[in-house]
Amino acid sequence: MATAMSVSAVTPAAAAVARRRTMVCVPATARAPREMAEELAAAAALGADLAELRLDCLAGFAPRRDLPVILAKPRPLPALVTYRPKWEGGEYEGDDESRFEALLLAMELGAEYVDVELKVADKFMKLISGRKPDNCKLIVSSHNYESTPSSEELANLVAQIQATGADIVKIATTATEIVDVAKMFQILVHCQEKQVPIIGLVMNDRGFISRVLCPKYGGFLTFGSLKKGKESAPAQPTAADLINVYNIRQIGPDTKVFGIIGKPVGHSKSPILHNEAFRSVGFNAVYVPFLVDDLAKFLNTYSSPDFAGFSCTIPHKEAAVRCCDEVDPIARDIGAVNTIVRRPDGKLVGYNTDYVGAISAIEDGIRAFEQRDPDTSPLAGRLFVVIGAGGAGKALAYGAKEKGARVVIANRTFARAQELANLIGGPALSLADLENYHPEEGMILANTTAIGMHPNVNETPLSKQALKSYAVVFDAVYTPKETRLLREAAECGATVVSGLEMFIRQAMGQFEHFTGMPVDDYKFQAIASSLDNRNTMKPRL
Ligand code: NAP
Repeated sequence: MATAMSVSAVTPAAAAVARRRTMVCVPATARAPREMAEELAAAAALGADLAELRLDCLAGFAPRRDLPVILAKPRPLPALVTYRPKWEGGEYEGDDESRFEALLLAMELGAEYVDVELKVADKFMKLISGRKPDNCKLIVSSHNYESTPSSEELANLVAQIQATGADIVKIATTATEIVDVAKMFQILVHCQEKQVPIIGLVMNDRGFISRVLCPKYGGFLTFGSLKKGKESAPAQPTAADLINVYNIRQIGPDTKVFGIIGKPVGHSKSPILHNEAFRSVGFNAVYVPFLVDDLAKFLNTYSSPDFAGFSCTIPHKEAAVRCCDEVDPIARDIGAVNTIVRRPDGKLVGYNTDYVGAISAIEDGIRAFEQRDPDTSPLAGRLFVVIGAGGAGKALAYGAKEKGARVVIANRTFARAQELANLIGGPALSLADLENYHPEEGMILANTTAIGMHPNVNETPLSKQALKSYAVVFDAVYTPKETRLLREAAECGATVVSGLEMFIRQAMGQFEHFTGMPVDDYKFQAIASSLDNRNTMKPRL
């Protein structure tokens, strides 16, 4: 399945060359010199390797007065000094001469790295000729805020930057789709082979993986913000997330890549959960969010064995059935795949772990409140209403049917409700019908639409009045943990089961598929229970 720009073509070489650790660099963007020095100290406390001092962010910057304050020694971290002009995406509006003088002064005051733009690099080189201290490295940078050129064009850009005499090449481009990042990975590997230090990052939410996975391909550094709201580029993660969630220090050429494919995907807690689970068993892997528009194109591009497995969420679960080489019979019956594993022979195999995760969560939720025969499912014989006919809806409907429930499907698009109801062998309802649906007592309701999901937390799929007809209410939405639906159902006296329970259980199934190791339920639950307190994920993808 490899294509011309497939990552599969470039991965093995990455392991072959001796390499240095990718550094985590925190941009310091304060308006005042003393605050900027404090940001550098804060970056050190976070565990960063260096700080980028963005002189163009300073208000009323006077180099001779301010640089000695910012670069005062002893300094807790090495400094990368950048004075970015407006024409390259920065804030500086003056002439190049004054800018260059400030950068030269920063070098003389002991800055370890100085960044200058490719467009003016030759001019700058002439100015510093014979004056650059040996311990200062020059980064020559190129920023493209529109797109990511082809690998060939990127390779030419690298050559052009090298020709200026740069010590380190920096290229930042913009992703219009996630497959753009593969081109940057190819360039990183190419530079790794030629022993050219390079910072290669792809900006934007669709370029997010470039920031986390660059250690795998030998990137010189990656940027992580001091905290949310302090990003110096779009979709930049926090340094804390890079270090603590993505375990970036452990990522190397042999690290396997897993992730959640979705659109949107930024709300997902899967990266926190799976990375922590991998770490807890010493599995050399990283789990990232993949913001994907076109599933088939994504899978064709990231076709390396290193991209070893994927979770699938909205809206790709049904397309995933078609994109896999083989699909587990239950997932095929459900018509939705939420887990894809790449076998050693390269074939993609699809599974569905939502079904067991959701149904076992609801069963245990009921058992906690109702005394029942432990050998019979508490769903058996009951009327089970599913709202939604997408991937999660199909999994719930299939699972409830398997357990002997009488399943009813209600969906916004009635034709889809009918289609699923026919498959399951039950009636279909419109959402309007559902408001007055009360054929019997003891009914179970399962919401499998995204209604009520963050940020639309005030929305709910069914009125409180209608909820009075249900004995048990489950919501697949798990951000927030207590949705409006669950809150109102509890107020009506129903037993409620949170989507977080389903989330944890489906993730356990995925962990087993990904690692080939049995899951330690107790350990996994302990990791998952800390999720509520660790809502630190940055990107809004
Ligand atoms: P999906 O395949 O895209 O299906 C979405 C379903 O929701 C469709 O039936 C759609 O109706 C309906 N829907 C969407 N927006 C709606 C709206 N504004 N009003 C009424 N109906 C609407 O998505 P999915 O993968 O099944 O996921 C659905 C939800 O379940 C998401 O919130 C997801 O986060 C959650 N989920 C949770 C877990 C967990 O572990 N807790 C696991 C899987 C999914 P139409 O047919 O009319 O478009």
